[in-house]
Amino acid sequence: MATIFTKIINGEIPCYKVAEDSKHIAFLDINPNAKGHTLCIPKEETNRIFDMGEQAYLELMQFSRKVAIGLEKAVSCKRVGVSVVGLEVPHVHVHLIPLNDMKEMTFQHKVKMTENEFITLAKSINSKL
Ligand code: 5GP
Repeated sequence: MATIFTKIINGEIPCYKVAEDSKHIAFLDINPNAKGHTLCIPKEETNRIFDMGEQAYLELMQFSRKVAIGLEKAVSCKRVGVSVVGLEVPHVHVHLIPLNDMKEMTFQHKVKMTENEFITLAKSINSKL
């Protein structure tokens, strides 16, 4: 069965898109650790990151780096943290999290955002790419 992220890629479920190329898409996490929390995913569905082929893995990291650099320009933070978990959604994704405090890396601390904030932030990050 297709993962929820494959449904996002196919446009069956909406997202706040930040970036896209032929093999990847980046969108805002719907339940963010911090404002600007972004997920970078390969369009090809693979469950675990180290099961990806080396080339696909490197391309995902290259794409994530590009998005992280834009994110750092768009959101005020000390740095952008990177995490790969996948316990909730079995489709490889790189979490990019703007950090001002260690608690933002814990996935226990969540922030609320309005629809407008999601839309504005996704556009703002995209404009810095
Ligand atoms: P993980 O699989 O790495 O443990 O976490 C999955 C992440 O995906 C979570 O941070 C969660 O908030 C996010 N997520 C789950 N479902 C959706 C969704 O439908 N849309 C978006 N944008 N994010 C989602």
